[in-house]
Amino acid sequence: MSDWELVIGLEIHAQLATRSKIFSGAATAYGAAPNTQASLVDLAYPGVLPVLNAEAVRMAVKFGLAIGATVAPRSVFARKNYFYPDLPKGYQISQYELPVVQRGSLTVLLDDGTLKQVGITRAHLEEDAGKSLHEGLGQSSGIDLNRAGTPLLEIVSEPDLRSAKEAVAYMKKLHTLVRYLEICDGNMQEGSFRCDANVSVRRRGSAKYGTRVEIKNLNSFRFVEKAIQYEAARQIELIEGGGTVVQETRLYDSDKDETRSMRSKEEANDYRYFPDPDLLPLEIDAPFVAEVRASLPELPDEKSARFVRDYGLSAYDAGVLCASRELGAYYEAVVAALGAAHAKLAANWVMGELASALNRDGLEIDASRVAPAGLAQLLARIVDDTISGKIAKEVFEAMWSEGLAADAIIESKGLKQITDAGAIESVIDAVIAANPRQLADYRAGKDKLFGFFVGQAMKATGGKANPAQLNEILKRKLGGA
Ligand code: ADP
Ligand code: MG
Repeated sequence: MSDWELVIGLEIHAQLATRSKIFSGAATAYGAAPNTQASLVDLAYPGVLPVLNAEAVRMAVKFGLAIGATVAPRSVFARKNYFYPDLPKGYQISQYELPVVQRGSLTVLLDDGTLKQVGITRAHLEEDAGKSLHEGLGQSSGIDLNRAGTPLLEIVSEPDLRSAKEAVAYMKKLHTLVRYLEICDGNMQEGSFRCDANVSVRRRGSAKYGTRVEIKNLNSFRFVEKAIQYEAARQIELIEGGGTVVQETRLYDSDKDETRSMRSKEEANDYRYFPDPDLLPLEIDAPFVAEVRASLPELPDEKSARFVRDYGLSAYDAGVLCASRELGAYYEAVVAALGAAHAKLAANWVMGELASALNRDGLEIDASRVAPAGLAQLLARIVDDTISGKIAKEVFEAMWSEGLAADAIIESKGLKQITDAGAIESVIDAVIAANPRQLADYRAGKDKLFGFFVGQAMKATGGKANPAQLNEILKRKLGGA
């Protein structure tokens, strides 16, 4: 494997969050009864004319500006001709030679802490097709055309990615970005954000790319990672066994964790692209671009840099907290209530206890059972030495499950930290008296037993002794003072 290098380029389809379709007034809402949201325009009935949705254009421009791309002053819609049951009109309106967004890039933070700039060749506007339904229909298939005409932004990367992990990191960053921009809801189960992965391998050091395979319709980060890993291993084994990779489209089967051939290049469609005669070229002028630029929110990289600067966080932590706008806002609300001096403590808790509780219950940050002000109150009790960090975790669990405030729980459960030195001393005296053998061993040089005494003394106080005080007094007493 280490003789080989992976080369990956992703084509990502982001469904734009417009209320109506890209060329008609039909609704884009998900989950309606089949075929209730397809208009005659979506089906290209004779005599109807498509009208471009200005909001979809605005969203594409927003994206282009956010990735530092060129927004084409003039781009062209083309018909991509093919027949499929979910495309009864026989062509998809897309952009081909002249896409609206050209040559941008995205910076991705890799696992090893380095930054990588990934080229984005283009992003173009197009309409989605319908959906074939097979479940519960016996020998028949159904066609639901509600999705026909839904606006998509297809984002095509350069073949710059070199591992499955890099591909996932890029895809996640893009997912973060489109949600910041509020141009896509990012819902992967509903297909609002999906990916085709192009994968090839080459011997390390070789300047030429290998033949690529395109894996279609990956709708989770995990599937993207697994499909690429499987496909690269398959290609390497094939070449090492004397075979050659053929250019083809493959499907990933997540149950079997393998890719299967769908169609080879010879069977590939000839789409006969041509400019759509029903649509004028899309012309975007400088004032419109300036207006969109002025409407851009703080972008993930900007926010993350600000967190590093203002809160003293590591680039990694800042990146995690800026992964969604909502998470960043939650974190900043905690810091605002607690004080920026404790920003690092707040970061640890948001990424630690809070994230794992959300994860465990399958909740998004907006549905957190502990609000920012509540978490800030809990952390303030650590800061003012009312409770230790360890007890705080217990309080947090109670806040989460019972919905009560930190102070109320500390009070009712009697969790207030013991800071009375005399009280701590007498507990320690009792523990030492009860463990003469360990005391002798410790004094004979078995330093590790210190932890044993800490544990015993903590246990005796129900975990409530101030840890720093307990350590200090214990050290002194064990030392014979
Ligand atoms: P097509 O028009 O057939 O889809 P493109 O040249 O537009 O082909 O490439 C589509 C995607 O494939 C892009 O994301 C690109 O980065 C990627 N790609 C191109 N060549 C390779 C290769 N040799 N290995 C892996 N990915 C590749
Ligand atoms: Mg393609």
